[in-house]
Amino acid sequence: MSAAKQVIVIGAGIIGASIAWHLSKGGAQVTVIADSAAGGVATPNSFAWINASWGNPEPYFRLRTRAMAEWSRLAQDLPGLPLSWCGGLCWDLPAAAMETYAMEHSAWGYGIERVDRASVARIEPNLAELPDFALHVAEEGVVEPVAAAKMLLADAERQGARTISSTATALVQTGGRITGVDTSHGLIAADEVVIAAGVGSPDIAATAGIRLPIETPPGLIVHSQPYKKLLNGLVLAERLHMRQTAEGRIIAGSDFGGADPGMDPRGTARGLFAAMKAMLHGSDGLELDFHTVGYRPTPIDGFPIIGRAEGMEGVYVAVMHSGITLAPAVGLFVAREILEGERDPLLGAYGLSRFAQ
Ligand SMILES: Cc1cc2nc3c(=O)[nH]c(=O)nc-3n(C[C@H](O)[C@H](O)[C@H](O)COP(=O)(O)OP(=O)(O)OC[C@H]3O[C@@H](n4cnc5c(N)ncnc54)[C@H](O)[C@@H]3O)c2cc1C
Repeated sequence: MSAAKQVIVIGAGIIGASIAWHLSKGGAQVTVIADSAAGGVATPNSFAWINASWGNPEPYFRLRTRAMAEWSRLAQDLPGLPLSWCGGLCWDLPAAAMETYAMEHSAWGYGIERVDRASVARIEPNLAELPDFALHVAEEGVVEPVAAAKMLLADAERQGARTISSTATALVQTGGRITGVDTSHGLIAADEVVIAAGVGSPDIAATAGIRLPIETPPGLIVHSQPYKKLLNGLVLAERLHMRQTAEGRIIAGSDFGGADPGMDPRGTARGLFAAMKAMLHGSDGLELDFHTVGYRPTPIDGFPIIGRAEGMEGVYVAVMHSGITLAPAVGLFVAREILEGERDPLLGAYGLSRFAQ
């Protein structure tokens, strides 16, 4: 019997957690290295909408819808996963663009329903302002991302993974391949290293001469105190996007990626919260609890980077925006590629080599 493959995963956000879980399930001996608490850095600051909504080409739509299906598969393996297919109600585009989106995505098989004012009021009875026309996608959902990441890591540990609280300072090269990671607690050897370190990924990759072209735009999200149920699902309105969490908090950004915090983040948060409150009947007692400012790990062309760096064996990169939507498919596909050598065709366009030109 051959020894289990030793894999280091740098990062304990939703991406690192999902990769660690799938690798452990596939029989690898996994070590997670992270300098945050379980749950990551961008992950706790996310809006966490799971979707394949407008604005993306068909190949990326296909990856996203596959990821949505993989969330349901994961929920069967992890009972109690805080996942909800609550549906998304969208009117954040001009009417003509909404029609184009509905026609295109319906043809691709996305379950979009055109809804009028009365139907909007039935779906979300507490909305104070109702659009004349919106699109409803019942198959969109949300997950509470920190809880999900923690569940994945805890279950990976039950399967033999270990987590080390440390900073990865450099990739270690031996004979032209990566053989481990230098950390603030010493060197850890491995057969393969996965960089799933969110906005920290470029610095680690650079220690092996790998360039990751990533932007880190900020996004501000307001969180109310826990409150009685006012929202049934996701509301993706012109001025802001909002949802109610499993804990009862209503959270909002100027869109799902969060508001630009500007020079005065607290002022921005107060303004956003007031706008959110004005959109809801029954919100008199709703109070702002806190706001977050997260930095989105966004490859410069907007699409994920998932794959090995060319010319360097033993290192795999998984960095992306929309990591909440994509996490279960990314974990599955990365584990398969590392353990079985099979690259899923849905990852075709998302290698690092696309930035080589
Ligand atoms: C405001 C906002 C709204 C968003 N909305 C959505 C949405 O609605 N839907 C969606 O799908 N996505 C959304 N996203 C994007 C999504 O949240 C991210 O893509 C996802 O959380 C990234 O997860 P990650 O695990 O890659 O990174 P992170 O959660 O940032 O985790 C990175 C991990 O790497 C570790 N790390 C970094 N450097 C080192 C180092 N040198 N040594 C050791 N450990 C290190 C960190 O400690 C951490 O554990 C949003 C993001 C933001 C900020």
